[in-house]
Amino acid sequence: MRVLFATAEVAPIAKTGGLGDVCGSLPKALAALGHEVIVFMPYYRQAREWFEANGVVPEVAVPTTQVIWANWSAESTVLTTTLPGSDVPLYLIANDFFFDRRQIYATRDDGFDDFLLRYTFFCRAVINGCSTLGIAPDILHAHDWHTALMPVYLDSGLRGNPAFRATRSVYTIHNLNYQGVAAANAFSITGLHSRYWRPDAVEHWGQVNPMKAGILFADQVTTVSPNYAREIQTPVLGAGLDGILRSLSFKLTGILNGIDVEEWNPESDEHLRSTYSAERLAGKNLSKRALLREAKLAYRARTPLMAVVSRMADQKGFQLLIPILTRLLRLGAQAVVLGSGEAAIEDGFRAAEAENPKSCRVWIGFDNALAHRIYGGADFLLMPSMYEPCGLNQMYALRYGTVPVVRLTGGLVDTVHPFDGSNGDVANGFGFAAPSSDELFAATWLAILNYRDAKTWKQLQRNGMAVDFSWDRSAHEYEDVYERARTI
Ligand code: ADP
Repeated sequence: MRVLFATAEVAPIAKTGGLGDVCGSLPKALAALGHEVIVFMPYYRQAREWFEANGVVPEVAVPTTQVIWANWSAESTVLTTTLPGSDVPLYLIANDFFFDRRQIYATRDDGFDDFLLRYTFFCRAVINGCSTLGIAPDILHAHDWHTALMPVYLDSGLRGNPAFRATRSVYTIHNLNYQGVAAANAFSITGLHSRYWRPDAVEHWGQVNPMKAGILFADQVTTVSPNYAREIQTPVLGAGLDGILRSLSFKLTGILNGIDVEEWNPESDEHLRSTYSAERLAGKNLSKRALLREAKLAYRARTPLMAVVSRMADQKGFQLLIPILTRLLRLGAQAVVLGSGEAAIEDGFRAAEAENPKSCRVWIGFDNALAHRIYGGADFLLMPSMYEPCGLNQMYALRYGTVPVVRLTGGLVDTVHPFDGSNGDVANGFGFAAPSSDELFAATWLAILNYRDAKTWKQLQRNGMAVDFSWDRSAHEYEDVYERARTI
């Protein structure tokens, strides 16, 4: 099959979270199964910097042309290279006005947030690029709200374009809570006919809602874990779209994300002070010592090192952790925290660091190499998420023998099997259900107590390290979804 990925993020070139990880690794797994996969992403400033730093010079595939849709027009240049570490073609849509910004999702310089226009332009430029380059996909695979309008464009006459005559669409929800909602007067930006301004199309309670439209118009919809697929059909986690998702559940599939097992491999990770495996865990202790040195914290035998690596957003549940962090540290633990995002959360962690200078270190920022060193050196990872579509951090942690302590929601339920004292043969972490600080405290305390029992701890580590999180299994499930999209 020829599969076209249209996505706002591709790791390691430009990512802010799991969307980038998936779109950087799933195409390679599908290509390994024999499919022809083509990826389109915006040529952000961050992408240009990544290419410069890595000595890659993308070539011009389509010289600057005018992309025109309805009353809108903007210049696009299409560059080409390959997805790092593969032969998968990667096309980059360049337009400096839209994409040369200080951050991937930054507003315009004047502060105006032109998000709908930037990504509508991106969708239209991908369509133009495919027509010019003669790319006729069997499957158009759109991701999250940024490219959600593409299945709608297929419905609205794009099948008259030879490149898209036989194209079927698959839409993946990586996070239902970011829907790309804009005011009603932004509808003209989509360039769609007014017949799409209806509750069974782009309109949702008087606003433009690209994600809803993507769900409605795609031939198949997937999300990133089986448990999240169930949860988003409930009012609690359905973000206002649960009714639509329930009514369309016949075309909704939850597929657990895989991880790039080459990039995330403790046996060969060049970011680590010392590599290690499930059989040779001594290297993990050396990595822990190196991480503590970097954090300017003293190494103390039998003292567990807790870690957080995360976007700092309400979703991640740090409002449960911050009020009890000092109490946890006083139980005899240390903590390292890496993340950036909302100021209130960053400040909360900074305050905890100031209160506990000998046991807590907080790094505010985004640093992939440091994230590797933290997974390699920490004893356990805290993820008290309020919701978590799949979660990759806990999978990286499991692979690195770093035992996750998680709130049992979304993909965390599919991947973490909490220790209950008697299931040492299968358990690989600790879990709690209610979104309360007390429950998080109890689960973390249980982890601290069990850390002191070296035999149990090693068993939990080994159980986690033995899980196969490679893309092989999930890539086959996507294949099945593509087949269903083609045969309906
Ligand atoms: P989400 O997509 O909701 O942010 P995921 O767990 O699916 O959560 O993916 C998060 C990804 O982003 C992981 O690869 C994680 O290591 C990475 N990440 C998050 N914050 C940081 C940070 N501050 N520095 C480095 N990597 C980070």
